[in-house]
Amino acid sequence: MSDCLFCAIVSGDIPGDVVARTDRVLAFRDIDPKAPTHILIIPIEHFEDLPAVAQADSSLAGEIFAVAAELAESEGIAETGHRLVANTGREGGQTVSHAHVHLLGGRSLSWPPG
Ligand code: 5GP
Ligand code: ZN
Repeated sequence: MSDCLFCAIVSGDIPGDVVARTDRVLAFRDIDPKAPTHILIIPIEHFEDLPAVAQADSSLAGEIFAVAAELAESEGIAETGHRLVANTGREGGQTVSHAHVHLLGGRSLSWPPG
């Protein structure tokens, strides 16, 4: 999709610190990390938000979470604990309208997140 920041990272038009890639999923480090590990996991195909992915293709939604689980292992935060976040829509705090899941970890995370 034109004018989409994360589609531009998928295509390589905007550089991204990519940590994992499958045929359908890309993961890269957040440019403004909120924790020692802060990775964004996205579908390569453009979807507006995570609920749209789940409704269109539940196996793709599952693959996003499987990549997140693998990255939690490789980042060393599977055992210590971590957080997966899918901000959705305006009041959910979503600022980039391309579906993504945040993987956060490496420090104690407060709840609620503020
Ligand atoms: P949201 O607020 O939509 O849930 O999350 C969007 C995330 O994208 C934010 O955490 C923000 O720091 C990150 N972000 C915004 N622009 C860029 C960018 O150009 N590159 C990367 N890697 N992350 C970005
Ligand atoms: Zn996009």
